[in-house]
Amino acid sequence: MLYIGSHVGFKKDGQLLGSLKEALSYHANTFMFYTGAPQNTSRYPIQDGYTLEALSLMKEKGIDYSMVVVHAPYIINLANDKDPEKFLFSVRFLQEELERCELLGIRYMVLHPGSHVGLGVDTAISNIAKGLNMILGTHPVTVLLETMAGKGSEVGSSLEEIKRIIDLVDDKEHIGVCLDSCHLNDAGYDMGNFDQFLEQFDQMIGIEKIGCVHVNDSKNSRGSHKDRHENIGFGTIGFDNLISIIYNERLENIPKILETPYVDREYAPYRYEIQMIRDKKFDPDLLEKIRGHIEK
Ligand code: FE
Ligand code: FE
Ligand code: ZN
Repeated sequence: MLYIGSHVGFKKDGQLLGSLKEALSYHANTFMFYTGAPQNTSRYPIQDGYTLEALSLMKEKGIDYSMVVVHAPYIINLANDKDPEKFLFSVRFLQEELERCELLGIRYMVLHPGSHVGLGVDTAISNIAKGLNMILGTHPVTVLLETMAGKGSEVGSSLEEIKRIIDLVDDKEHIGVCLDSCHLNDAGYDMGNFDQFLEQFDQMIGIEKIGCVHVNDSKNSRGSHKDRHENIGFGTIGFDNLISIIYNERLENIPKILETPYVDREYAPYRYEIQMIRDKKFDPDLLEKIRGHIEK
């Protein structure tokens, strides 16, 4: 079965119920959300009333909640411990995010491994593992390390680096990987030959470690290390290659999440992109339709 959705908001009023309703408005059957603003760490307490209402609406709509994932805020950086206080702040905040996930009944939390900011990859990898070892297993939540584009000093832009982190993590049961097609492309992997990539992944890390796939086209060429997402079919990866990723039978029953940009920074593209993905047919006029110039 295809589980397809997008990232959605999570607001103080409505919380999970609001996120779910946004996802339903895109005709998605899964979704991903930040438990607050992605760029900061201010968080409101989880209100069980919203969660319970959301759970019953999911039941009614046939949404499998085990496919819904949370994304940790991207200001968390476990890679750098130059300032011990900042490092501990990241660890503590991640711990709180795991608690929020547990309260919400969420299984998977996506995390950017971090940026070494001058410390070098080796130190960064041991820092990331150190931070993860302080928190993993304290909650029944699995952390999925996201494959990164390699922008700046980002760690995790190669399978080797992801593997090295996982190797140092004690609690192997609660660590996994989130693939991001834009990031993989920008890191240099050929998304035109996804089966070969998956084979390489399977041999190095094990395909069963993949818990989520971020499906994004890329504005930049392969190996550019840029990390700028593009709408499905409008970038350098292209529609057919993205369809082969989404419908890859080895990744069936793994949530596929769109993080493509709003059109003109105003219009959410997800309902249209999801429809196009279900139809498996590229629509070159999609962005125009989203802008409302052409009737659907
Ligand atoms: Fe991410
Ligand atoms: Fe992503
Ligand atoms: Zn990205």
